[in-house]
Amino acid sequence: MSVRDLIILGCSSQQPTRLRNHGAYLLRWNQEGLLFDPGEGTQRQFIFADIAPPTVTRIFVSHFHGDHCLGLGSMLMRLNLDRVDHPVHVYYPASGKVYFDRLRYGTIYHDHVHVIEHPVAKEGIVHQDETFTIEAKFLSHGVDNLGWRIQEGDTVKFDKEKLAAHGIKGTLVRDLQEKREVMIEGKKIKLEEVSWKRKGDIFSYVVDTKYCQNAIDLARGAKLLLCESTYLEEHADLAANHDHMTAKQAATIAKEGGAQKLILTHFSARYRDLLPFKQEAEEIFPNVDTADDFRRFDFPLGDFF
Ligand SMILES: [Zn+2]
Ligand SMILES: [Zn+2]
Repeated sequence: MSVRDLIILGCSSQQPTRLRNHGAYLLRWNQEGLLFDPGEGTQRQFIFADIAPPTVTRIFVSHFHGDHCLGLGSMLMRLNLDRVDHPVHVYYPASGKVYFDRLRYGTIYHDHVHVIEHPVAKEGIVHQDETFTIEAKFLSHGVDNLGWRIQEGDTVKFDKEKLAAHGIKGTLVRDLQEKREVMIEGKKIKLEEVSWKRKGDIFSYVVDTKYCQNAIDLARGAKLLLCESTYLEEHADLAANHDHMTAKQAATIAKEGGAQKLILTHFSARYRDLLPFKQEAEEIFPNVDTADDFRRFDFPLGDFF
């Protein structure tokens, strides 16, 4: 089984602090590495986290404010240097194409990394195959800013006891998976009789937005929701004025969307202690934790509860 975890490479908002780098988040899932919003210094954060950059297969840029993309150029250069042989998909709001190009071609380098660009002009499903369905929605931040909802494909799981009861083993199991039925001693056994469907998990990413319906829609049924909470309740006025959210608003999104677990991030540099974020959010949504640089969160196959 492949690794399934979320690694926080940074969790600050606009200004990094001594303790918190610009945001960047790596989700390792189904043999892929999904990198969200590589802020400044992300390349070095990979080294501290002891993760090889070629793990990255897809990069999601929510919007082109500096704290969400200044590390994009250097990450692509690093993947270039490491001579990754897989394509690297990059998803970003189409209106930011000019910024994408500047970040990608801002310096001299011998370009051979295979970048596949996915400029997103319209919200909805932007990618779908048996591994992932990727959905994007615009958030409310004063500039084009995309939140993401990613769902893995459903998988067939065999019921070992039922397989044994029918005497199905070895290559017959593979045949059953491929042909969806096998003959055993003249009797037809269908795949559905000895298996069950595991519903694919959902990961949602919502940063840099006011409280809005699209954020709730993105969080719908998420096993894990990574959501901004730039401010505490005492600065709710700043959250409203700067198109951001408080911990309580993030918790309300998790609750309304029916998420299983919430991780708060994108903290304003004015706060040193992050415990109050968890405490304020817990009043609304109990299964909450705070991001911190280099923290790893399990993204389990089973439920959190
Ligand atoms: Zn930001
Ligand atoms: Zn922003």
